[in-house]
Amino acid sequence: MRYTTKHIAFFYALKLIELLYLCGMLEDKNQDRTSLSELGEFGLINHLTKHFKIAHTSTVKAVGDDAAVLDASEKQTLITTDLLVEGVHFDLSYMPLKHLGYKAVMVNLSDVYAMNGTAEQITVSIAVSNRFPLEAIEELYAGIQLACQTYNIDLIGGDTTSSTTGMLISVTAIGKADKEDVVYRNGAKETDLIVVSGDLGAAYLGLQVLEREKQVFKVDPNNQPDLDNYTYLIERQLKPEARKDVSGLLKELDIKPTSMIDISDGLSSEIMHICSQSKVGCKLYEEKFPLDPQVISTAEEFNMDSTMIALSGGEDYELLFTVPIADFESIKTNPNFSIIGHITAENQGLNLVTRANQEIELKAQGWNALKES
Ligand code: ADP
Ligand code: MG
Repeated sequence: MRYTTKHIAFFYALKLIELLYLCGMLEDKNQDRTSLSELGEFGLINHLTKHFKIAHTSTVKAVGDDAAVLDASEKQTLITTDLLVEGVHFDLSYMPLKHLGYKAVMVNLSDVYAMNGTAEQITVSIAVSNRFPLEAIEELYAGIQLACQTYNIDLIGGDTTSSTTGMLISVTAIGKADKEDVVYRNGAKETDLIVVSGDLGAAYLGLQVLEREKQVFKVDPNNQPDLDNYTYLIERQLKPEARKDVSGLLKELDIKPTSMIDISDGLSSEIMHICSQSKVGCKLYEEKFPLDPQVISTAEEFNMDSTMIALSGGEDYELLFTVPIADFESIKTNPNFSIIGHITAENQGLNLVTRANQEIELKAQGWNALKES
């Protein structure tokens, strides 16, 4: 069944209320809660991991011993880790735990895909306080499991410990790629085209909408959030998808990117990484930025500049890459990709060409910059 935007809006409205209950912002009357201490650490690990199935022959031993065992292949191994901290990277008052689990896996897979590799395994380490009942951790793992099933990933281990205050999640993803397929940040060459998958800025605006609804809800809990106009934005914030498909799409077009990075902090900061590591400059064209209609209308509503959001709003988890200019025709006609600029000589700096045809220098700012403004 395909969900309509109405379904999704309703779902998120319900989730928001449920989450506010869970976080104690509303009085909690009849929720089933199983204390983590009833299970103990080993009971908890077993309970959380027993339903995970192993899909890869490279996974020789997963959860259950002192270490997981992987069968190394001819390929090169890719390893990446991200640590998510409550109150810093996520806010449980509007982030359902299932979504948090899903997202924690996505941010890591995205890094493997940004190397042009295939992800096969993850480890998951969590620190939780007694404030969380077993049911909450089950929700978290339901999201992790959904991500593993959808992206064909084996859960092979982790660590479980207690925390005195907030929740902490660390995921490590392990992947592989043929040596000649790996794409680094440092390979961009002058005249290369700058390309981005999907569209930009939606996840940041989704966060703005959720934060606004949280404030409204605090003042008047009877006020049911109407999220109909923001479904895409909220989905991009709460349920990002890593671009597993891009590597295959490019192979079909017979294109190997010269450099690649995933957009976690915002276009502006990611293109800076590519340019500084490749020792080149760049020119981006404002009119070429791919923006969803909801991004344009909501930016207007929030009195924000959609270009600024595309440049500095993070968490889109799209891929940003460069390709030789010879690939122009095949990239141009592909609906998954937008050509947003080109690489220049290093001494020309990093510039944005506005719709009014003015050139302005790009600033080194990710989503933090937006927060402070
Ligand atoms: P050790 O004391 O040797 O560190 P643990 O009791 O921490 O062992 O872990 C036992 C097994 O369970 C190991 O295979 C470990 O990788 C796995 N594991 C522990 N915590 C988690 C978790 N949160 N998610 C998935 N696997 C876990
Ligand atoms: Mg351990």
